[in-house]
Amino acid sequence: MSFGNDALPLSTRRQFLIQSAALSAAFFWGTHYVARCAAARSRALSSDEVSEAFAAFARTKHMPSELQAWLSDPAVQRIKPYRIFDNVWQVGVRWVSAYLLKTSDGAILIDTTHEPFADDMIEKIRSAGVKPEEIRFVLMTHGHFDHAGGAERLRKVLPNARFAMSAEGWREADESANATANTTRAWTMMKRRENDMVLKDGDRIRAGDTEVLVLETPAHTWGTLSYVYDVRHGSKTHRAVTIGGQGLNAISGPEQLEAYIQSMKRLGDESLGIDVDLTAHPFSTGLTEKIPAVLAAKPDEPHPLVDRKDYLDRLERLADGAKKALEAMRKAA
Ligand SMILES: [Zn+2]
Repeated sequence: MSFGNDALPLSTRRQFLIQSAALSAAFFWGTHYVARCAAARSRALSSDEVSEAFAAFARTKHMPSELQAWLSDPAVQRIKPYRIFDNVWQVGVRWVSAYLLKTSDGAILIDTTHEPFADDMIEKIRSAGVKPEEIRFVLMTHGHFDHAGGAERLRKVLPNARFAMSAEGWREADESANATANTTRAWTMMKRRENDMVLKDGDRIRAGDTEVLVLETPAHTWGTLSYVYDVRHGSKTHRAVTIGGQGLNAISGPEQLEAYIQSMKRLGDESLGIDVDLTAHPFSTGLTEKIPAVLAAKPDEPHPLVDRKDYLDRLERLADGAKKALEAMRKAA
């Protein structure tokens, strides 16, 4: 999950940890309300409003009721799938992305969103012209329920898929799911099978004409991975990344914030050549508002999501947020 970039107010490091844990717990509760209840219909919120509401949640530890209603309203969260590049479809929900990469030999799915939306995702995958049995890899960014929570169900309906995450990501997912057992926000993490994968930095996942580069980018969680891959628009090929979360709500201490800052720096490195930011949370880049422009993009015109400067600016904002949190943590120590 992902929050606004504001540093959390800190008094002591210990308190920070408690706050982080409480925030995560409150957030889980809030969103799991989604799955359990037929919530009141919510107002449509813009990406900026959602980002601001998450930032307020991070500051106050109280989820704004409007945000909770928005997250909890299946009618709002169920969005139509859409083709975001020639070879990539968005098959996620309104607040969490899942990207389907079509290749010359099967397909790759990045992230699984969460229940009760896994079956919807299968329909979205079909509507993108991909049969469930054609999915070869399911690459998860990290072990939080909003990215890995759909895997338990998807495992059963994607017979040929190998599920993949970092070693720490798998551990985080088990820990995170176990922590919710016997609560109203319980979720189940899939059991890893022998042919599932533990990914490491520099791994390359190949399917047909497509290769996904795996980067270990400890930041939002220690186990967070980011995935780098080519996206096509007309005759042009661009380099996209899906960064695994960016919130400061699961920070265990100053070392993690230092790692966060380094990861953002690395993601901006020229050698990676990234010019497309395919975000794990659509509201964090205003992707939702850009959908009409994405759909209208003509093959011989520039694609609206190709913008390296915009991407680098976002990395800088994220790193700045981590730096502020680190300063505050050090001051409080
Ligand atoms: Zn997360």
